[in-house]
Amino acid sequence: MPLQVLDHTTRTKHPFQPVREGHAGLYTCGLTVQDDPHLGHMFAFVACDMIRRYLGHLGYEVTHVQNFTDIDDKIIQRARREGRDWRQVAQRNIDRYHEAAAALAIQPAHHYPRVTDHVDDIIAMVERLIARGHAYASGGDVYFRVRSYDDYGRLSGRDLDQMRAGVRVEVDDRKQDPLDFTLWKRSADDEPGWDSPWGRGRPGWHIECSAMATRYLGPHFDFHGGGRDLLFPHHENELAQGCCATGEPYANHWLHNGLLYLGNTKMSKSDGNFLAMDVLLDKHPAAELRFFLLNAHFRSQLDFSPQRLAESAAAYQRLRRGAERLHRAAADAGQDTGDRVPEGLLSAPGGRLAQAVDARRRGFFACMDDDFNSGGAIGELFGLVRDLNQYLTATGDRGLDPAPLTAARDLIDEADAILGLFPGGLDLVAADPDAVPEAIRSLVDERDHARQARDFARADALRDRIEAEGYSVEDGPHGSTVRRAERTA
Ligand SMILES: [Zn+2]
Repeated sequence: MPLQVLDHTTRTKHPFQPVREGHAGLYTCGLTVQDDPHLGHMFAFVACDMIRRYLGHLGYEVTHVQNFTDIDDKIIQRARREGRDWRQVAQRNIDRYHEAAAALAIQPAHHYPRVTDHVDDIIAMVERLIARGHAYASGGDVYFRVRSYDDYGRLSGRDLDQMRAGVRVEVDDRKQDPLDFTLWKRSADDEPGWDSPWGRGRPGWHIECSAMATRYLGPHFDFHGGGRDLLFPHHENELAQGCCATGEPYANHWLHNGLLYLGNTKMSKSDGNFLAMDVLLDKHPAAELRFFLLNAHFRSQLDFSPQRLAESAAAYQRLRRGAERLHRAAADAGQDTGDRVPEGLLSAPGGRLAQAVDARRRGFFACMDDDFNSGGAIGELFGLVRDLNQYLTATGDRGLDPAPLTAARDLIDEADAILGLFPGGLDLVAADPDAVPEAIRSLVDERDHARQARDFARADALRDRIEAEGYSVEDGPHGSTVRRAERTA
């Protein structure tokens, strides 16, 4: 099954067809840099990073463009409040974005265009829109003529007449229609501005993305990412501008990630700074934050609470320990100690593991091919770790089967390259011989899993097995610890 991607106009999934054979163009709406990035912003960037990595895995040569909105009313206001130049405020927050992105193992985009470096491209696009009858100048501003574009509203599924009925009647005789939106905005004398055919001014927000996306990716490209809150009006307007200026279809697929909710409130810049990335990264390993953002379908809503993050972190550490155990077992099985199953043969547990690994591989890629369902794919990795645990508890660390262990390890490594789960690598130092054996650790992880699934009968049975092997297990709020039982002579 080839990669299937959601199509916004039909609301169904279709096989991905690149605009240009072997290539994939991806544009992501970047930050408006009036403030530090928070976890809600980074959700979009981590999702696009996962998508970009997967397209690369499929063999596409990806060009990824992500802009910075470095001039905007909010940046000007912020600079006034701080008594600083607006360019300093923008640069500081761009630097903070790059720090957070690097910590979250987001691969750098190929281009990071800034609005202030592309004012000429923007003016050229506005001129084309005027020449084609889709825009008009009025009192130093320029507006997009919404009624000139029949498909306006199609992306977000809105009806123009209903929208018009819902618009508050504002007295604005500069606009021909209340739905018309700004392409170019006149600047007051004390505001930043650029000379243009319509006088000194600055770009409206939506036009910048159309101008920069088409500048780097051409008038027709594959993917456009950004948060769901950008669907209307930002992306609807971007699409209208792109199509009307070039006569081409603009973006084929829109990758709207769900929003991060705090309790029942969408996260926004006014929610204080406790989810600012620098605050979060002080308290949590970046890999746990990245995992939290990827462990669901990117289009679904993500509910944040400290409790949920802690549960997610415990699950992540279980996955990580499983991946490390798998690497060690595959390495041990590769050593010719006379203790392994000979080549070409499989033990009975090894045969079961081989079948399980095949099924997990199919499951992982079926999820990724299903509109980039990273959460489903991660579920298959947890399943793989459970398969491994069952195998190790059945073989007791002896008579290891190299073939299925190597296949399982390769799947974990491929998944890591696609999802970026283990930035900085796994801890593969061979376990201390006096430490708790892997077979016991497998039982403990199995038991943690049973407890989380509220299967307490199975959890109790596993505790009995652990204790029969001479170990004790203690439960904490986010997992358990195991140690060799004190001997009572
Ligand atoms: Zn944008």
